[in-house]
Amino acid sequence: MQIKEADQEILEENERLYWSYTAGKPGPVLVLMVGMHGNEPAGVIAVKRIAEKFRKFEGEFYGSVYAIAGNLKALEQGVRYIDTDLNRLWELFNTSRDYSQRNGAAKPAEYKESLEIKRVIEAILNRHADNLENFVFADLHTTSSRSCAFILLNDTLENREIARKFPVPQILGIEENIQGTLLSYINNLGFRALGFEAGAHQDELSIERSEAFLHLLLHHAGNIELTDSELRKQSDIIEVYENVPNTYYEVIHHKMVDNAMDFQMIEGFENFLPIEKNRPLAYEHGNLIRAPKSGRIFMPLYQKKGRDGFLIIKEVSPFWLEVSGYLRRSSVHKILRFLPGVKQTGNRSFEVDLNVARFLVKDIFHLLGYRVTEKNEFTLICYRR
Ligand SMILES: [Zn+2]
Repeated sequence: MQIKEADQEILEENERLYWSYTAGKPGPVLVLMVGMHGNEPAGVIAVKRIAEKFRKFEGEFYGSVYAIAGNLKALEQGVRYIDTDLNRLWELFNTSRDYSQRNGAAKPAEYKESLEIKRVIEAILNRHADNLENFVFADLHTTSSRSCAFILLNDTLENREIARKFPVPQILGIEENIQGTLLSYINNLGFRALGFEAGAHQDELSIERSEAFLHLLLHHAGNIELTDSELRKQSDIIEVYENVPNTYYEVIHHKMVDNAMDFQMIEGFENFLPIEKNRPLAYEHGNLIRAPKSGRIFMPLYQKKGRDGFLIIKEVSPFWLEVSGYLRRSSVHKILRFLPGVKQTGNRSFEVDLNVARFLVKDIFHLLGYRVTEKNEFTLICYRR
């Protein structure tokens, strides 16, 4: 296939492309994102290390791999972002808030970064236009608190299938709470995408875990074949702590903050720590914030940037995951529009009037693979992923 000249140029000697390799043998296209947040260098270092070690796979490599750097300016300065969070603006494309259509000084620095990243992704997609069903995207991050490694995914069956091959906790449906992420953008384009969180920002372990994750991902995506002992070795490196069940979790509460400077998480909360309802968690504007629900604390904010104070997650039973897998493949979707209070608003979307349909609405739509967001107090928007 002929590659368009403009795409070719973008993929050649682009400072954003940390790693680009295409083997002679056909196979999957793996696209890695690193450094979407400038204070998270672990993924960047891991990619550089693995690209170096990588020579030994030459000749036994299938398909292609690309590693794209995220927020270059912020990486240079070692800060999360310059003007706005690069990993929260991807939902704005093609809306009235689309930065690319806005002129003037109000444009955040991340606007340019996002357009460049988008352009690189498009060039890769164009180059492999005859192989689109074999794409896998992964976005590498770290957290401000101490943590074991875990995976974030938008809850589609395709994402679950690849995610469950990794021996770490899996957080489902994160896109309902944290919007505008690159992962959601990729998912909405129709591709599989995983987020990998390796541990604390400055922990050497985070680099090792990122590297192990990349080895496993190259294997599970089908780019390389690891031996059984290699597989075990890499899996051991990302394996979770004993006290964190290696299973699926869903978000049951999300504490947003207006201003991270006025938010103070109480010391000592590690990711996945079990908490009881009413336990004091943080101070905001001097007021004590208690846990509204029991569960496990997730991504407590220990840096003065960002809008996600903390989340609370709980385990999802494997039984319900099985059931939901079955239902999603079934034709049950066709009867949703006949339910009281449910109105079909598009091919894949519904609006639910909560005055009529009170009970279990969210649960039913989740089970069927819909993303559920609140339009207002009385209306839910449900969109099939
Ligand atoms: Zn991050």
